[in-house]
Amino acid sequence: MVSRVIPVDDFDLVIFGGTGDLARRKILPGLFRRFCSGQMPAQSRIIGAARSELSDAAFRRDIKAALEEFLPKDSFSAKEVKAFLDQLHYVRIDATGTEGWGALKKLVRNDKDTIQAFYFSVAPSLFGDLAERLHTNKIAGPGARIVVEKPFGRDLGSAKKLNSTLRDHFDESQIYRIDHYLGKETVQNLMAVRFGNMLFEPLWNAQYVDHVQITVAETVGVGGRGAYYDKSGAMRDMVQNHLMQLLCLIAMEPPSHFDPDAVRDEKLKVIRALDPPKRDDIVRGQYESATDGKGYLEEVESNDSITESFIAMKLAISNWRWAGVPFYLRTGKRMKARTSEISIVFKETPHSIFDKDSGRHRNILSIRLQPNEGITLGVTIKEPGPGGMRLVDVPLDMTFADALGPEAEGVPDAYERLIMDVIRGNQTLFMRGDEVEAAWSWTDPIIEDWTRRGERPKPYDVGTTGPEDAAVLMHREGRRWLDIKA
Ligand code: NAP
Repeated sequence: MVSRVIPVDDFDLVIFGGTGDLARRKILPGLFRRFCSGQMPAQSRIIGAARSELSDAAFRRDIKAALEEFLPKDSFSAKEVKAFLDQLHYVRIDATGTEGWGALKKLVRNDKDTIQAFYFSVAPSLFGDLAERLHTNKIAGPGARIVVEKPFGRDLGSAKKLNSTLRDHFDESQIYRIDHYLGKETVQNLMAVRFGNMLFEPLWNAQYVDHVQITVAETVGVGGRGAYYDKSGAMRDMVQNHLMQLLCLIAMEPPSHFDPDAVRDEKLKVIRALDPPKRDDIVRGQYESATDGKGYLEEVESNDSITESFIAMKLAISNWRWAGVPFYLRTGKRMKARTSEISIVFKETPHSIFDKDSGRHRNILSIRLQPNEGITLGVTIKEPGPGGMRLVDVPLDMTFADALGPEAEGVPDAYERLIMDVIRGNQTLFMRGDEVEAAWSWTDPIIEDWTRRGERPKPYDVGTTGPEDAAVLMHREGRRWLDIKA
């Protein structure tokens, strides 16, 4: 198989917050990989912008160090690094002041042949300042694109405000709200598997699916992000955005075309069809550590925080396709292993022709986002050898690295893909403003109920699968969570 790299048109990309953690760890290493694969036109420029006093040369040195730190050793040559760095520039700018905007205007091309993209890799409180100054200084042309990062608000009110601030200066078609989960290869493959094969879509409904599980488990704790995280919690940090987006892609109706509004219209309908969950369909947890002194409360330096670092919930979608099919979502920090996986658990066959010792089996389609991105379909076959008809489940494994060999190594990571989609002007994998607001409309009453009741989350030991009650959520209905495997 030959990897196809489709070059993009000439662009100028300004990264506000170009010296920050996200830019150094994800955005610039991602762009470098695209550069190495030949996707970045030679005249295109990447312009870092922040308050620090840096020359172009100092910025390039810093980004060189970031590439060395965050990309695998020996995965690039000094020649490639130098050529990439030559396309980098830096402007000292204050998002809230007047300094630097004249210099930026001189540097960024504003003509019909150059794509302009502005990545707001700064705190959301600065989005309005940046949007306004890009507009009033006449830097952004009519086709300019802006990219914004999570968190997109902390409730419906703040999300609406943020949307309206951005829309004061930019049209919705110019706004790219990043959810990096949507940029993952497997997520797009999920759509390819669902809508590109005859096999799955006819079974993708309440008649054949018993339930769906979505697990996003992390082994890390809140670490240095404690102050931010404690005001947010797993619901705001993970469920409202990443898990909700995954749920939408699984549950949505087939869009008429794979185009931005067709896909996002269908996702929006799923969010609107979500029932408010009952109190006893939600389990909140907080990690404790008896061994390393890094329990949640120690990490956020508070004895009385009631913020959840874990959440498990059972959701129902009120429509014909999914009536009666529970969607179980689970996410948490300091869990047993790091994994992100979606599993569609099909119903058992209606009648078994085999004797009862052969057991009852069900097919499970598992979509792994990390690690080892891939899709596995569990099928039941006869256990080989003598001894009668004994059945066994085996995986039909579609792990990309195995199936595609070296080709899989060139697969862009989520940030690379999403940034290139911005340059191409393709919004399919970005959240639309009304989707974000609908997700907050569903989330807000749940969080408000927790705040009102002030209940402590259930403790769970680090390195486990979460509080016991999360298992009970499944057991009480004769189901169980699939194992969390690294
Ligand atoms: P960070 O490390 O704190 O970097 C913030 C950047 O903003 C720095 O380059 C800083 O540089 C610049 N900055 C701050 N105030 C400024 C001002 N008034 N004018 C111009 N530049 C200013 O933050 P980050 O972790 O990179 O996160 C950036 C955004 O991405 C945030 O919205 C965050 O929530 C989001 N995000 C981050 C991650 C991640 O993994 N880091 C993941 C998801 C989302 P100076 O101090 O030199 O101005």
